[in-house]
Amino acid sequence: MSIAENIKNLKQQLPENVTLVAVSKTKPVADLQQAYDAGQRIFGENKIQEMAAKWEELPKDIEWHMIGHVQTNKVKYMAPFVSLIHAVDSLKLLKEINKQAKKNERVIDCLIQLKIASEESKFGLPPADLESLLAQKKELQLDNVRIVGLMGMATFTEDEQQLRSEFGILKEKYDQHQQAEAFHVLSMGMSGDYPIAIAAGSTMIRVGSAIFGARNYH
Ligand SMILES: *Cc1c(COP(=O)(O)O)cnc(C)c1O
Repeated sequence: MSIAENIKNLKQQLPENVTLVAVSKTKPVADLQQAYDAGQRIFGENKIQEMAAKWEELPKDIEWHMIGHVQTNKVKYMAPFVSLIHAVDSLKLLKEINKQAKKNERVIDCLIQLKIASEESKFGLPPADLESLLAQKKELQLDNVRIVGLMGMATFTEDEQQLRSEFGILKEKYDQHQQAEAFHVLSMGMSGDYPIAIAAGSTMIRVGSAIFGARNYH
């Protein structure tokens, strides 16, 4: 199936309150253009320089989401245009985003990535540390970043029980803080697990291979 058909089929399955981020990392600009022509306006990338290069080439009404782990020294390259940073997991990173946002006279929306997977390799803040990060952000008056919700990646498994339980941890944290923090984005669910994530309360799914096909890493 074509990229356009994949997007159409996916969007038909999505409840109205769930936003689709088309994860286009490693894919050529021509593929993104096909998705754009099919009406897709939100793209997710995991490397800052790759995202900046695509931003320069493609139409300016695209919303660019940084979904990967962010190195503080590269924040400056995306600060002028990024619309949502999904994977913030430290105060140090929040401070740098705040600094670069200020330089660009912007307020940048961010999600805190919580570690919900049992796998060791995954990034993210331990869920128990969320409260202190939110408190420190306020104390330091980092007013050029707005934390609009949470993000998480489940373990790569077909065990649906485990997926439900990991997404459940994230949803519980989200609900705890939703009112006080005015959260409105719960980013969870990828090609392999988005139906379970949506059932668990996701409002934003990040789908790559189910749209663009398998990725070649080299
Ligand atoms: C690559 C990636 C995705 C998309 O993965 P697919 O399995 O191709 O849908 C989603 N979220 C993050 C953080 C990723 O790095």
